[in-house]
Amino acid sequence: MTFADIILDISLEKLDKTFQYMIPEELLSSVHPGTQVVIPFGKGSRRIKGFVVDISHEPKLDIAKIKPICGVVKDSIPIESQLIELAAWMKKNYGSTMNQALKTVIPIKKKQSIKEKKRVVFKLDEKMARDEYASLMARTNHSVAKEELLKALMEKSVIDWDVIVNDMDIPSSIIRDFEKKGFVDVLSDRVFRNPVKADVVDRADIVLNDDQSNVCNRIFTDWLNGDFNNTYLIHGVTGSGKTEVYMEILKKTLDRGKSAIVLIPEIALTYQTVNRFYDRFGDKVSIINSRMTPAERFDQFERAKSGDVSIMVGPRSALFTPFTNLGLIIIDEEHESSYKSEVAPRYHARETAIARAKMNDATVILGSATPSLESYDRAVKGEYILLEMNSRVMERPLPKCEIVDLRDELMSGNRSILSRKLQTAIDDRLKKKEQVMLFLNRRGMMGFISCRACGHVIKCPHCDVSLSLHGGDKLRCHYCGYETQKPKECPECGSKYIGGFKAGTQKVEELVKAQYPSARVLRMDMDTTKGKNGHQDILRAFANHEADILIGTQMIVKGHDFNDVTLVGILAADMSLNASDFHGAERTFQLVTQAAGRAGRGDLAGEVIIQTYQPDNYSVVAAAAQDYKAFYKQEIAYRNLMDYPPASHMLLVLVTSTVENQAMGQAQAIVNLLEKNFDGIRCMGPGDAGIARINDVYRKVIYIKEADYNRLIAYKDQVEKYLLESKEFANTATWFDFDPMSGF
Ligand code: ADP
Ligand code: ZN
Ligand code: ZN
Repeated sequence: MTFADIILDISLEKLDKTFQYMIPEELLSSVHPGTQVVIPFGKGSRRIKGFVVDISHEPKLDIAKIKPICGVVKDSIPIESQLIELAAWMKKNYGSTMNQALKTVIPIKKKQSIKEKKRVVFKLDEKMARDEYASLMARTNHSVAKEELLKALMEKSVIDWDVIVNDMDIPSSIIRDFEKKGFVDVLSDRVFRNPVKADVVDRADIVLNDDQSNVCNRIFTDWLNGDFNNTYLIHGVTGSGKTEVYMEILKKTLDRGKSAIVLIPEIALTYQTVNRFYDRFGDKVSIINSRMTPAERFDQFERAKSGDVSIMVGPRSALFTPFTNLGLIIIDEEHESSYKSEVAPRYHARETAIARAKMNDATVILGSATPSLESYDRAVKGEYILLEMNSRVMERPLPKCEIVDLRDELMSGNRSILSRKLQTAIDDRLKKKEQVMLFLNRRGMMGFISCRACGHVIKCPHCDVSLSLHGGDKLRCHYCGYETQKPKECPECGSKYIGGFKAGTQKVEELVKAQYPSARVLRMDMDTTKGKNGHQDILRAFANHEADILIGTQMIVKGHDFNDVTLVGILAADMSLNASDFHGAERTFQLVTQAAGRAGRGDLAGEVIIQTYQPDNYSVVAAAAQDYKAFYKQEIAYRNLMDYPPASHMLLVLVTSTVENQAMGQAQAIVNLLEKNFDGIRCMGPGDAGIARINDVYRKVIYIKEADYNRLIAYKDQVEKYLLESKEFANTATWFDFDPMSGF
């Protein structure tokens, strides 16, 4: 027998409140997650509608008590049906409970989430009002509050409810009393908080260049031919004008009477970016971001559902905007790892967007100057349609890049983090009053602290990672926040030569300030952007020439055009090369190319100096040449050789426990189970995760490589089943990550 878990009102907070019904034989083929059905409910013959969220074969209560579904609602397919179907797809493809998946795709309405603005409107004409006032005053012991309210309404015929209750301090019961007597109407209109603050920017009308028009025309031609459900990858070099292309396609989408979702990494979601959309589409655009309260996000989703807005701009989660007539999903900077969710279901926005687009016969556009290997490979294979934009707008040249070998600097006696070449270039720009960006791929004052005599590295006692120096004498763990005093001597050998080696942004700032005392320096990293607008304020200040040099981590490479930056210094290009997973080269190529792309975006040509200890590494060389294809060729050869994605798919199973041998035992049991059930399976591990312990929780990993994604799903299903049944390692938690984006 087959059963369906049915949810009655999905906008309620309690998504986990489901009811089990039986699916009659004749409805089996038409009922699946997302289907809206009619069910008998409660006593008598009451019938209501509900959504199927899950299908199973196990009854949760006495079978005799489980009622059958009456029928399927056929007339209209509500947006909720589609989102539930998408949640079911995510559950299957990424591993999670249905509940986790539902909570990801469905905006949760909390109580009081809708800010209701009520207005009290006076209904009495002048004479009636005066009569009422007189009769009230004639009463001995009349209510002063009533008198006040009546008087106020006679002066001003419409008053906000909040003003009456809060400012005038009149009890709401009196308003209700007036309403009952027919003195007033209480009108309430739901007020949606519009998060977009207009910051009008003057923009000359832009005429698309040939590259840009070609991209648009290709897509529009496909649309004319009724070919909507394609995925396009726009590979456009930095400054090639991708955003303008998006606008053009968005406009056409709205003309078609459709809505669109534009995903932009949170870090690039700046006023400058948002305003470009707002300028063009006015209040047809809404945004969501992670700084919003759940209520604010909910409001924006409601506006989208009601058709009040047609374009939603936001990070990963904007993908679930409940547009009923979705026509287009754009994913800008599609290579960004923030498109992968870090909590279950660990979905990738790209795949999920494609799945959602399929349900709507909608188009997906991916854009990047440095596409992910996965996407580019699919484009090469014809699964996506590759569209290229190879030059910058207005015939601006790509910046000139030069690689500097840091080992040579050391040998020549230069111990500064700034190479001689970079120093000369900075001098030059300061003289010319042009701007400089210095890019460092890490945060904090310094990297790890170690002893120069014995090599001992000071680590977090809970996390197995090195502690970083903050504010001169504090050591802090970036994972768990553990903090301790910096020791004066080496705890191992007692040597006094203990200190940090690799510089962080704060250290670079000190050095630069010391070397260029007259330069105005700004720093942008996790520490300086903590406030709500920290990020924004720094970018603005730099754009307004309130500083000559901006020092920062990867966050300076996104979201703002600085026209007068003519020099970008990349201080240690290879820091990201030594990452603990196979994405090291790809990340390095992306970071260096994107950082370099910040130079020369205005009328002045740009120069980039790339400092590195590994000047021959192909990712550094290809980035310096801004040659994506050369990089792709090398990197795909390596992935093929090693059978890493995209050559293969990968499933990571992470088992955690506060008891190390529980974690290890469970991980080993999972490997044994899989090897017993699946011939030829390739399990790696179990072994310690890249970070073997966080906050006293031990972490063991298993990696499984498999060309066929569906087989990975089968492995996951098998493990999930085992986890439900087995109680042996109760003190553990297990989760899945398909095609992980970073090391664990
Ligand atoms: P990308 O997203 O590829 O980095 P943008 O769309 O941000 O590029 O364009 C870079 C700059 O060039 C922006 O300031 C944009 O307004 C401008 N721009 C884009 N297309 C044109 C064009 N056809 N003519 C003039 N300026 C353009
Ligand atoms: Zn020592
Ligand atoms: Zn720690």
